[in-house]
Amino acid sequence: MITVMKFGGTSVGSAEAIERVANIIINTKGEKVVVASAMSGITNFLVGIVENPPSDMDSIVEQFANKHLMAAEEMFDDNTMAEFRKDFDLRLKSFRKAIMSDPNDAYYQDLVTSQGERFSTLILSHYLRMLGHDSVALTAETAGIAAVGLPLSGSADLQATANGMTMKVRPLLSRGIIPIITGFYGIKDGAPLTFGRGGSDYSAAVVANAIDADMLEIWTDVDGFMTSDPRIIKDAIKIDEMTFGEAAELAYFGAKVLHPRTIEPVRIKHIPLKVRNSFRPEEPGTLIHNLRKKGNGLLKSVATKNDLAIITVSSAEIAYRPELVASIIGKIAENSIIIYSISTSLSTIAMLVSNSDVMSVIKKLNELGSDIERIDVKNNVSLVCCVGDDLLSKCGVTGDIFTAVKEAGVNVEMISEGASEVSLNFVVPMGMVMDVVAVLHSKYIGE
Ligand code: ADP
Ligand code: ASP
Ligand code: MG
Repeated sequence: MITVMKFGGTSVGSAEAIERVANIIINTKGEKVVVASAMSGITNFLVGIVENPPSDMDSIVEQFANKHLMAAEEMFDDNTMAEFRKDFDLRLKSFRKAIMSDPNDAYYQDLVTSQGERFSTLILSHYLRMLGHDSVALTAETAGIAAVGLPLSGSADLQATANGMTMKVRPLLSRGIIPIITGFYGIKDGAPLTFGRGGSDYSAAVVANAIDADMLEIWTDVDGFMTSDPRIIKDAIKIDEMTFGEAAELAYFGAKVLHPRTIEPVRIKHIPLKVRNSFRPEEPGTLIHNLRKKGNGLLKSVATKNDLAIITVSSAEIAYRPELVASIIGKIAENSIIIYSISTSLSTIAMLVSNSDVMSVIKKLNELGSDIERIDVKNNVSLVCCVGDDLLSKCGVTGDIFTAVKEAGVNVEMISEGASEVSLNFVVPMGMVMDVVAVLHSKYIGE
C-alpha cells in the first residue's frame, strides 16, 4: 500500500504544525511519499521580491533564512541542527543565487517563487530523522518531476515524471525511506516551472499518478471538502463523499481547497483521494473517488470564482460564420488565456475570462479587423458553480435555483448549463455573489 500525503502551507507553517505533521506521517501504515508546500506566508513573500525588487537583497536572504531557522531551532536537538545546517546552507546559497539571477528571464518568477518548498521539506525530513525514521528531502529536480508549458502555468509531463520517479523514488520506498518532495513546481529544460498558485495539490496528484499510489491524501486546515467556502459561509458543512467529477468542477470554478488540476492525474488511474485536516487528524475527511453516493439536498456544494469579466463580441450573423468563431477563439488561445464559459446568439459570442486578461483579449481580437463590429466588456462579475446529484436530469432544478437567485434580488448575467452532468454555472455581479451563495446554501444544501 503506497500513500502519497500532501501537506499545505498552514500544515507546515510553524514548528508545532510540522511536529503534528510528522506524527501523522509516522502513524500512517505502509509505504508513504510526502509532498509539502512552503511554510505559510513564504510564497507570498517570494512573490513580493519579484513584484517589488528590494534594494537590500542581504536583508531579504536574512529574513527568509530566519523564518526557517527559528522553526528548526525550536524542533531540533544539537546533532540534528548541525546536520540540518549543512543542507540548509547549501540551499540558502542557491536561494541567494536564484533571487540575484536575471529578472528579465521569462522563468525568473518561477525560479524565485518555487524556493520556499525547498526549505519546508528539508525541515520536515530532518525532523523525521531525528525521531528515528529514515527520510530524505528531494526537490522536483532530484525526484524527477517533469513540467511543460508557459511561465507560471506549467503542467506535469506525466510519462516523463513516471519514468523519473521509477528510477529516483521507488528504490527509496523499497528501502523503507520516506521521501519528502517539494510541491508547486516541476522541471522544464533544467529550470523550475510552477504549476500556478496552490499547485502543490497538483504536484501530489502527479506524484501519486507517477508511482501508482493506492491513495492520495491532501492534508489541509479544514475538515474536508465542504458545502461551500467556510470563510464565506459560516455554517458550511463537511461532505463525506464526492465523485471525481464533482470535485473537479468545484475546484476548477473556485473551491480553493484543491488546486483546479488536482483531480485528473488521480482520476485516470482510479486512485482515491482524501481531503483531511492536519490540525484534527482524528477526523475522517472527505473521500473523493469513482463511486456516487446520493445526497438528500438539491445541491451538494457551491463554489465561486471572482474577478471575472464578460467580453461580448458582435458581428452580423456570426452564428453562420464558424470560421470567424474559430478565429476568435484561436486568437484568444494564442495568449493561453482561459475561457471559463462561452455562450452564443445569432450575432454575438460572449466569453467569460479573468478581469486581468481583458486587455490582452481585446488586443488579440483587434487583430481580426473589420470582421468584428463591436466588443463590449462587463468587468467585475463572479461565476457561481452549483454541484449536485443529477442536476440535469431532475425536473425543475434549474427553476428552483434561479428562483432562489431572484429572492436574493440578483440579476443573472450569463448561464452555462448542460456542459457538465454535475454542475450548473451562472454569472452574477461580483458585489452580489455572497448573497447568492448564502441563499442557495441555506435553501438547498444538505447531505
Ligand atoms: P493549503 O495551504 O493546505 O493548500 P488552502 O488555503 O490552499 O490550504 O486551501 C484550504 C482552504 O480552502 C480552506 O481554509 C478554506 O478556506 C478554503 N475553501 C474554499 N472552498 C472550500 C470548500 N468547498 N471546502 C473546504 N475549504 C474550502
Ligand atoms: N506554496 C505555493 C503557493 O503558496 C504552492 C502551494 O501552497 O500549494 O501557492
Ligand atoms: Mg492549497
